[in-house]
Amino acid sequence: MTSLMQTVTFVACFLSGAAIAAEPTLPTVKIFTTGGTIAGSGSSSTDLTNYKAGGISGNDLVKSVPELARFAKTEVEQIANAGSYDLTIANWISLARKINEALAKPGISGVVVTHGTNTIEETAYFLNLTVKSDKPVVLVGAMRPATAISADGPLNLINAVRVAIAPDARGKGAMVVLNDEISSARDVTKEHTSRVEAFRPTDFGYLGYIDEDKVAFYRAPVHRHTAKSEFDVSKLDTLPAVDILYAYIQPTLGLVDALVKADSQGIVFAGTGAGDISTAERNALAPTMKMKPEVRPIFVRSSRVGNGRVTATKDYEPFGMIAADTLNPQKARILLMLALTKTRDPKELQRIFSEY
Ligand code: ASP
Repeated sequence: MTSLMQTVTFVACFLSGAAIAAEPTLPTVKIFTTGGTIAGSGSSSTDLTNYKAGGISGNDLVKSVPELARFAKTEVEQIANAGSYDLTIANWISLARKINEALAKPGISGVVVTHGTNTIEETAYFLNLTVKSDKPVVLVGAMRPATAISADGPLNLINAVRVAIAPDARGKGAMVVLNDEISSARDVTKEHTSRVEAFRPTDFGYLGYIDEDKVAFYRAPVHRHTAKSEFDVSKLDTLPAVDILYAYIQPTLGLVDALVKADSQGIVFAGTGAGDISTAERNALAPTMKMKPEVRPIFVRSSRVGNGRVTATKDYEPFGMIAADTLNPQKARILLMLALTKTRDPKELQRIFSEY
C-alpha cells in the first residue's frame, strides 16, 4: 500500500469510526494431505517405528499446528490418508489436476502437499513435470510420527508453508522440505531409514534453508519443469506401465522376460556403476531389441550408485537403450512413463532424458 493510500484509509476509518485492521492480509496456501508419518499416530509418545502412517486426518494434522495462522491462511483437502508406499498413479493424476486448479486461482499463493517420506521424492518429481504453474509446490513429510516426543512434522509443516509463500520460491519447480532444508524434486532422494536428516539432494546441494529470519535460496534448478514442461496429464486416467530391474552379479535372466510378457511398456535398469547391465542380460535381450521400438518395451539405463551421470555409450546406444543422465531409477521410471505418453522414438526419448 502506498503511503498516500494508507493515509486515505486511515482518514476514512477515522471518520467512520471503524478500527484499522492491525494484521496485514495473509496469503492463502492450499494444503493437500496424503497421509504418511507426518500424519502418523502411535499408541505412546515413544513409539517411533510402531505407528500407523496416515492415522490422523488432514484437517486434524493442520489444526494441530495453530502457529501456521501467523504465516498464512490455509485451505485443507485430503487426497488420501495412507503410507506413501500405497499411493497410486491415480492419486498422482488427481493430485496434479487439483494442484493445477488451485494454483490457477489468483487468491492461492502456493501449494503444500503432506506426504510419507518413503516415496515423497517420486510424487515430487511427478508434480515437477506435470504442474503448470510457477507458483511454489512444496512437499513435506516427517521422520517421526505426529504422536512422538520431539515430532519433526509440526515445524516441517510451518517451514513448508513459509516456502509456499516465499517470493523467491516461485519458478523453482516442485520442492521437498524437511529438516529446515529445501531440495529440488529432481535431485532429492531419501538416504536414511530413520534419521530426521534423511533427505539429500545428491551431489547438487540444497536449494536453500529455512531459518527463523527468512527462507533463504542459494540456487535454482536448471532442468525443465512445471510451467516449461511438455507433459500434460489433464486428460489421462493412467500412465504406461514401466518397471525397474535392479542389476547385480548373476541376475535371474527370466525377470526381463517376465516383464516383457507382462506387457511392460518400459523397463528401467538400476545398473551397476555408470549404468551397466550384465552381458548375459544383454544377450537375453538381443532378440527383443531387434524389434521396432513401437512393439517392444523401451529400455532406460540408470544407476544404483546414487550420484553421477549415466551417458549414452557405444555398448548401449546402438542397442537402442536410453541413458537416464543423473536421474535415479525411480525418477527415470516417472520420466519414462510420461515420455511414453508422447513418443516411442529413441532419439526423442533421449532428448527428453537430457532436458528434464
Ligand atoms: N515411514 C514413512 C514416512 O516417513 C511412511 C510413508 O512413507 O508413508 O512417512
